[in-house]
Amino acid sequence: MLIKNSIDEVHKRENAFKQIKKILNTQGRESIYDLTGLSGGFLATTEDLNLLETYIGPAIFEEKLQTEGKKHLGGEKVFAVNRTSSGILATILAIVPENGEVQHFLKEKPGHPSIPRSCKLLNAKYTEYTDINNFNINENTNLLVITGSNMDHETIDEDTFKKLITLAHTKNIPVLVDDASGARIRTAIYKQKKATELGADLVVTSTDKLMKGPRGGLMAGQEDLIDKVKSKATQFGLEAQPPSILAILKGLEDYNPENLRESLNKKEELFETLNKKYDCFKQTPTGVMVKEEDLYKTLNCKNEDLSPKDLNFLWALILLKQEGIITIPAVGMPAASATVRFDLAAPDSKNLSNKQLLEKIDSTLKSVKEVMDNSIEAKKIILE
Ligand SMILES: *Cc1c(COP(=O)(O)O)cnc(C)c1O
Repeated sequence: MLIKNSIDEVHKRENAFKQIKKILNTQGRESIYDLTGLSGGFLATTEDLNLLETYIGPAIFEEKLQTEGKKHLGGEKVFAVNRTSSGILATILAIVPENGEVQHFLKEKPGHPSIPRSCKLLNAKYTEYTDINNFNINENTNLLVITGSNMDHETIDEDTFKKLITLAHTKNIPVLVDDASGARIRTAIYKQKKATELGADLVVTSTDKLMKGPRGGLMAGQEDLIDKVKSKATQFGLEAQPPSILAILKGLEDYNPENLRESLNKKEELFETLNKKYDCFKQTPTGVMVKEEDLYKTLNCKNEDLSPKDLNFLWALILLKQEGIITIPAVGMPAASATVRFDLAAPDSKNLSNKQLLEKIDSTLKSVKEVMDNSIEAKKIILE
């Protein structure tokens, strides 16, 4: 294994940022294609920014956030947090007792690492489930988490969603929906209802996934539960700060589900061509992806120093260095998914035709194949 732990992943991420800066300085912004589907956007006017310098700004933005946030997520009250992970942590700390229990249902494992990690702090029992026919809510469970769309955008269907919520509620167990990207994928692409409309007590979404907001989280749900989470969050500094709240509000105002739907045709055409040539590509709601095991098989990698994850990291760094394409395995936080995903709903996708993207995919896969048997060179590409 080349990338052995989160420290290595931090170094890989630092390297990716160094490469992005290098391309920016030598070739300019137009040579970089951010296809992560994470925008890190900060839409704000000078007037907004001037207001931020006083407490008048936060007072106004917070009130508007209630209106826009409820439009987006439903529920009785919303609350902005520093990240989706912060909202998950605050909820678990607020609802689950020490040695308690959390059950988590999702389309495909694994769940976001912030969920088991939060449980661990409380020494709470934590189990993940993917099969509705083999799922039962335990008497002792304190919280049911449902992931709407997982890190690879695999999405649960609405019937399963409803069944799970009914199961939990017949035993008075609260439901938190991790709808990081699901709040938009489920509703805009699959026409599902909002999590709160389906009966969820709490929902959290990521404000930079498939919308132009900053890295941040937005929670919504029942007022008493939101107040409980809010009180816990502020004790540990997990709440969003005024500059983020402003940018979250602007991102919500800018959000238009049509933009997501427009990526669908482009995706289908791209997938069809790729699928004829390679057997490792899968469709996502708004793009295509290659999972680590699938690339390993397709390239027939026999180098035992390289794990399937390493091979995806290698491809991600080659995509970046050689073609200026940013994907999550290059810049993601430690323990983020190593799936290489090309998100055609990402704003930069407009600057790249399918033909151009295909050429870039072909040439980088060729480079991966050339270098994958050379562990020293591969490690250098990922970390230097
Ligand atoms: C991205 C994501 C998160 C975490 O979001 P952060 O902003 O990194 O905290 C949690 N759950 C799912 C399903 C995600 O996709």
